[in-house]
Formats: sequence, structure tokens, C-alpha cells
Amino acid sequence: MAYSYDDQNIFARILRGEIPNRTVLETEHSLAFEDIAPQAPVHVLVIPKGKYVTYDHFAQAATEAEIVDFTRAVRAVCEKLGLEPGAEGTGYRLISNSGGHGMQEVPHLHVHILAGRPLGRMVM
Ligand code: C5P
Repeated sequence: MAYSYDDQNIFARILRGEIPNRTVLETEHSLAFEDIAPQAPVHVLVIPKGKYVTYDHFAQAATEAEIVDFTRAVRAVCEKLGLEPGAEGTGYRLISNSGGHGMQEVPHLHVHILAGRPLGRMVM
């Protein structure tokens, strides 16, 4: 499908510096910041700097450099916050809500990183 990007969405405004954010990590193509209404002790959003509405849009239209940067930015946040799964780490949950049934509120691709406590089984 063809996507139309709303330049006034809140994350576009954050990227333009019009609205403050609590940055966790910034790379060439991605920004990670604390969610304003955290649902867990750790709740970070990672967004590409490019104008992509959903994961689907991003996977279709982003450059390989953007995709690699974004994927590694998610990992880098988890590493920075000491969340890596495994013997030493505690693990985390990644969520990306897309479109209406996904209950996406902000029409700019974002991945939620949730961690800091056992998150329970996903219940729909
Ligand atoms: O996946 P969804 O679109 O529902 O998530 C949007 C997220 O953006 C929410 O978790 C909300 O708390 C967050 N948000 C934010 N800063 C804003 C506006 C929304 O962190 N200024």
C-alpha cells in the first residue's frame, strides 16, 4: 500500500526539536528516547529519523543503511541499559503497534522496548 506521512505527528516534531525528549541514544538514522507514559520500569521508544509510518512502510521503503542502523540502535539501547537476555541479563520485550488493529497512536514507526520487571504473558 502507499503511505502518506503526517509531518505534524508528535515524533516528527520531536525529531525537529520542537518538543523535548529524554534521549537515551542517537545514531545517524535513529533516535531512542524514554516514553512519556512508561508502562514498565524501562520503557524506551526507538524511531527511525526517516519519514516512515509503520514497520511495513519502513521495510518496503527504507534504505539498507537505515534498516541496519535502526535494528542495531534497538540492540544498542538494550546493551546500554544492561538488558541483554542470557545468564547476565534480564531480557526485554519489543513491540511495534501498526495501524488500526495494532492500536498505533503515533503515525511514525516506533519500537517499544519494555523491561525492568517480569512482563507477564502477552494477553490479547
Ligand atoms: O504504539 P503507540 O503508537 O500506541 O505508542 C505511542 C507511544 O508514544 C505511547 O506509549 C505514548 O506514551 C508515547 N508518547 C511519548 N511522547 C509523546 C507522545 C506519546 O512518549 N509526546
